[in-house]
Amino acid sequence: MEYQPIVDLANGAVTGREALIRWTHPTRGELSPSAFIPTAERTGLILAPGEWALLQSCKEAVMWRDKAPVAVNVSPVQLREETFASIVAGVLRKTRLPPERLNIEVTETVLLNDDIVTRRNISRLRALGIGLALDDFGTGFSTMSTLVRFTFDKLKIDSSFVKESVHRRESAAVVRGIVALAREIGMPTTAEGIETEEQLDFVRRSGCTHAQGFLLGRPVQGSEIARIDERLSAQSLNQA
Ligand code: C2E
Ligand code: MG
Ligand code: MG
Repeated sequence: MEYQPIVDLANGAVTGREALIRWTHPTRGELSPSAFIPTAERTGLILAPGEWALLQSCKEAVMWRDKAPVAVNVSPVQLREETFASIVAGVLRKTRLPPERLNIEVTETVLLNDDIVTRRNISRLRALGIGLALDDFGTGFSTMSTLVRFTFDKLKIDSSFVKESVHRRESAAVVRGIVALAREIGMPTTAEGIETEEQLDFVRRSGCTHAQGFLLGRPVQGSEIARIDERLSAQSLNQA
């Protein structure tokens, strides 16, 4: 797994890290999740790696010195499994990660078909005290009513809008519109895929509360985080 920082735009602090699955294929080398997740979802083979990713992320996050929450991506297929919430509860028990340090990210397509098991899972996750983020917002087909019905804790604005926002008036308007809507219903917003100062400046001015992207921090191996942590604590010791 790799982990990418999510930064609070108010103070620049790392307020969480998103866990991103990595797979080194024996002949094709390092594969991007977008190269294998869709197939794994279609064939029903996502359940095992999905559960592994969750367990691994919680195991690693529990060791982070800064106690930042970890955001784990979950496939709509996993959410349609009756046992999903109890698997999550089991992982929390096993790893001793407090539920408030786990955020689950689901893509908008999860809302597409109003599935009864998905609904049940979402309310069970809530009851466990886990945070829920709606990922890639703006790219799917979710309607405002489903958005309100499901009550997420956070909206992640898809990187495509962020990238275009500095060139296209329409995309800029979409970003500002999403932020205004989210603010009205009291939801923080994370702008995804920030690569340039110009994009960062734009999303900050638009009122996004959080941001994520290569400019702010690339995804790194779990072992790197421990090293960053050590560097930070060594610095603070030196200052003390
Ligand atoms: P996502 O959840 O929207 O994750 C953000 C993706 O954007 C990651 O790609 C990340 O590496 C990339 N990214 C971050 N900052 C930048 C940037 O500044 N520029 C650019 N060009 N890209 C940036 P990645 O790791 O390839 O993951 C792709 C997608 O695969 C994720 O999108 C997520 O939907 C899915 N995914 C990743 N890990 C898991 C997992 O454990 N389980 C499931 N079900 N899906 C996963
Ligand atoms: Mg995500
Ligand atoms: Mg996303």
